[in-house]
Amino acid sequence: MLINKRIGAIEVDTAFADHEQAYELLELVCNDVKEVMDEYDLQVSQIIEMTDDTLDLGYNENETLGWIKIRVRRTRNNQAFQSESMVMDTLLHELAHNRYLGHGEDFNEFFSELKLSLEGRTNSCRISLPHPMVELERGKQH
Ligand SMILES: [Zn+2]
Repeated sequence: MLINKRIGAIEVDTAFADHEQAYELLELVCNDVKEVMDEYDLQVSQIIEMTDDTLDLGYNENETLGWIKIRVRRTRNNQAFQSESMVMDTLLHELAHNRYLGHGEDFNEFFSELKLSLEGRTNSCRISLPHPMVELERGKQH
């Protein structure tokens, strides 16, 4: 199913009973980021939920395989969800890798630009989070 013209599909880990909630969370950030992707002409064919037992928050294989992996659950137990803003941050980070590999100055500038672009479009603070156990957690992003 096509999510929007910038993102082809979302794939979640259906081994979890609440996989629909994971899908909704990814769908929400994918739609919120659409205009930013329009502005910078970024495309991803697939956003895949990351559930491996690493501490990684995201992974970009977009150039060769066409997908980005995003962790939507906390790394410690893979049960409670990350906050929406955390998932969005990871997504923006991985999208920045569509243009720059590694974490050099070019990458950081572009990542900041994407964040500013998103903030400029979001004029309200979303408080109706569907995730009761929000806990910010530091992890690695690639
Ligand atoms: Zn990275």
